[in-house]
Amino acid sequence: MQVAIYTLGCKVNQYETAAMEQELVRRGHTLTDFESTADAYIINTCSVTAVSDKKSRQMIRRAKKRNPQAVVAACGCYVQTHTQEAEGLGIDLISGTGQRMEFLDLLEKAVSAHRCIVHVDEALRRREFEVLPAGGMASRTRAMLKVEDGCTNFCTYCIIPYARGPVRSEPVEEAVRQTKELRRSGYQELVVTGIEISSYGKDRKDGATLIDLLEQVCAAAGDLRVRMGSLEPRTITEDFCRRAAALPNLCPHFHLSMQSGCDKTLRDMNRRYDTERFYESVLLLREHFDRPAITTDLITGFPGETEEDFAQTLAFIRKCEFAAMHVFPYSIRPGTPAAKREQVDMAVREARAHEAAEAAAQMHRAYLEGCVGKTYPVLFEQAHGGYYTGHAPNYMEVAVEGEDLHNRVVSVEIVRTDGQRLYGRSKEEN
Ligand code: SF4
Repeated sequence: MQVAIYTLGCKVNQYETAAMEQELVRRGHTLTDFESTADAYIINTCSVTAVSDKKSRQMIRRAKKRNPQAVVAACGCYVQTHTQEAEGLGIDLISGTGQRMEFLDLLEKAVSAHRCIVHVDEALRRREFEVLPAGGMASRTRAMLKVEDGCTNFCTYCIIPYARGPVRSEPVEEAVRQTKELRRSGYQELVVTGIEISSYGKDRKDGATLIDLLEQVCAAAGDLRVRMGSLEPRTITEDFCRRAAALPNLCPHFHLSMQSGCDKTLRDMNRRYDTERFYESVLLLREHFDRPAITTDLITGFPGETEEDFAQTLAFIRKCEFAAMHVFPYSIRPGTPAAKREQVDMAVREARAHEAAEAAAQMHRAYLEGCVGKTYPVLFEQAHGGYYTGHAPNYMEVAVEGEDLHNRVVSVEIVRTDGQRLYGRSKEEN
């Protein structure tokens, strides 16, 4: 059968879609794009905000309209946390964030079932990590390696722990096996990802931690670059930094999830650190790495955030001098504790996000200016407006004038920046 998949949300959802695509092809099915007529449509849904819920429903309806004869199947966080609501959308197969391979078995059944199959387990009862095929069908540049699922931090604005269940970690030897596979398949970089990788190993009896895993993955990766997904500040310790700095192929890019620079707001979010501990992480990374790129996320206008609280946040982000930031105005997530609180006016949330984004742009430019005159091994990905673009190990975008450099790592001397990305000239082919 011809199958079309539409994916919403995070790297983990994209990873799981890539794994399902590989398995569907292995089973003899063909993939087609979501805009065309297919025998079956899969929507891998997201529920991180009310907007993603709405988008998930829209894509489900769009699939049904595209081919009313087709089987429409939905998986992912929205249908996991809103199963009954999803049943009202006339879907043929509903399966949450659980077993992906079993989901494909059910999809093949649904084609002949002519009735709605609902197969959603209790996420909070899960204990097993489902090892899925790594890599993907598309380019061979950067592959994701999912090593962890679930989260038990219960930040007050987040639905993920209810959608993904408790922490489950991939055995180190499995991650090493998959890393070698990705290397053989010609990838140049892999991103160690998960729902909350700082909790890696929390569920394992062997006591393996994230740095134990990284050491083994980096060793198995050989000359592949290894990049990490988002981290929580608690991961950044003297021991972690000393051992991570000893890994030659680990990219010095640390996305440290912050969310607020005000201790009162961090408490209200139920985040597990204060600004002092966060800043300690920043200093530790700068002590052990040469100009590491420290990037972060910020939510503005969280319920209860006053002008004074936000002023503290602005001062704190300037103190941290982030290389880049993702700034989001708080978005109500029904079903979370924060949604029940008195809300900050939407206009205020957005105005604060705008102000923070301006500060972020200045810091980004300052970090980029600090890269001028330096030389980086750049992994090139695509042609773009007369340039070929790629990313340096610090994940800054680099553009050079040149021929087809796709999936090649080339040494580039940085000559200037426009505040958005770096421009350079290639020195030699690595
Ligand atoms: S750490 Fe917090 S924000 Fe991140 S997935 Fe867990 S509960 Fe959600």
